[in-house]
Amino acid sequence: MFDKVRVRFAPSPTGGLHLGGVRTVLFNYLYAKKYNGDFIVRIEDTDQGRFVEGAEKYIFNCLDWCGLVPDESIFHGGPYAPYRQSERKAIYRQYAEQLLKKGNAYYAFDTTAELEFMRERLKSEGSNSLQYDHRIRMSMNNSLRLSAEETKGLLDAGTPYVIRIKVNPGEPVSFTDMIRGDMEFDTNNVDDKVLLKADGMPTYHLAVVVDDYLMKISHAFRGEEWLPSAPVHILLWKYLFGLDQMPQWAHLPLILKPDGNGKLSKRDGDRLGFPVYAMDWTDPITNDITKGFKELGFLPEAFINLLAVLGWNDGTEQEIFSLEELIDKFSIERVHKGGAKFDFEKAKWFNHEWIKKLGIGHYEGRVKEIFEKNGIRIADDQYLHKVMGLIKERCVLLPDFYTQGVLFFEAPNAYDEVSVKPKWNDDKKSYFNDIIELFEHLEAWDAVAIEEAFKLLASQKNIKAGELQMIFRVMLVGGKTGPAQFVIAETIGKAETIKRVRNALEVFG
Ligand code: GLU
Repeated sequence: MFDKVRVRFAPSPTGGLHLGGVRTVLFNYLYAKKYNGDFIVRIEDTDQGRFVEGAEKYIFNCLDWCGLVPDESIFHGGPYAPYRQSERKAIYRQYAEQLLKKGNAYYAFDTTAELEFMRERLKSEGSNSLQYDHRIRMSMNNSLRLSAEETKGLLDAGTPYVIRIKVNPGEPVSFTDMIRGDMEFDTNNVDDKVLLKADGMPTYHLAVVVDDYLMKISHAFRGEEWLPSAPVHILLWKYLFGLDQMPQWAHLPLILKPDGNGKLSKRDGDRLGFPVYAMDWTDPITNDITKGFKELGFLPEAFINLLAVLGWNDGTEQEIFSLEELIDKFSIERVHKGGAKFDFEKAKWFNHEWIKKLGIGHYEGRVKEIFEKNGIRIADDQYLHKVMGLIKERCVLLPDFYTQGVLFFEAPNAYDEVSVKPKWNDDKKSYFNDIIELFEHLEAWDAVAIEEAFKLLASQKNIKAGELQMIFRVMLVGGKTGPAQFVIAETIGKAETIKRVRNALEVFG
């Protein structure tokens, strides 16, 4: 039926990109790439009231960061341009008119006050549905109830109107979801959704169907929250293009809050202290910043990996997957039907694994930026590289490179004196005065040579090396943390080591 796999991500540019959105992109992308298909990004901005400045660019920045590059989009071009629905306004009207002609849609002239009145009436009658549907449409101000002349008169007079789909009760509506299997809907409870608004813009429902058709979309993965809209979409497909043209749908399970039930929201993230957006999002009106995974120090490889396994696995125990492996192994049969709980600790574990797995070169630039943001200018990239190699096993998020690594760039400005004081005495003081001299004459400055010299002097002076090592570490880095002290000394160099011992001697007295 379709010559080629063509999938689309169809975001509305209304704000930050939720991790669920990125997972939707990812599953579309994996499916397309697995079958040598195209991945299209279409901007669904027909609801101009919800348009947010900057959101479009931001979405593409997020995709760029994740390495999920579209084949066609507003920025990548393509044979089905334009890819922004507001620029396709003229296209949709003709389809709405086709539906009118065939009797599958009608003009509705109801004013806001009339609609409000309808809802009040339904409420007072104790109706459990307040929708505009087959039950009430014949009592409303629309072309189904009005005569042809009356309708023409209103249209000629320029009366504002919308076009609504006419949903017939009892019409069978079903489709086979790639994840959920056969789905059936009862049109009795489906409302006559607006297809074309008074300003001439289509609603999402009309635009999504028309564009999926015109852009030859073969498969579409979208969030489970769109399942209730499926019956209207299926009816539109049936009336306009034929059901055999409809893409195969897959409604992805929700990403759930870590505690309790329900979809993970931005508020849960704020409440539990973790990001929910892919990248930092600055609200253009309030300037409020909502934190993103990227800025918190996640690697895109880890972010993609953790999203892939939220609702999918390959049937083995494997958890770490590169994008290439995911393309290779992704299979729709293994996407779960149920929602997946988000676990931030597990998300961090993925990042830690990817920090260890990838070559430092992959993220060195970002770490350098973090150092510089914290006021440390990196004059020697090779030195930073070396330091990163020493500490990468301990880093979970990228800023950890700064907290773990700053000691290689700056002498401590405070010491853990509580640990040192009880062990400090004149013998130790004289030991460290002598070690300075020894260090000065040491020819090879490497961890082994430093350790040998250190221990030799300790045994000559008959002092326990263990206690001296602890003090030496505090002298170098201020506390008892960090890699092995002789490695630190080797890395920061002879002059800096001697300087730090001297500084500490002054403080310890
Ligand atoms: N524009 C919809 C959204 O904002 C897309 C839903 C769909 O994929 O059909 O999520």
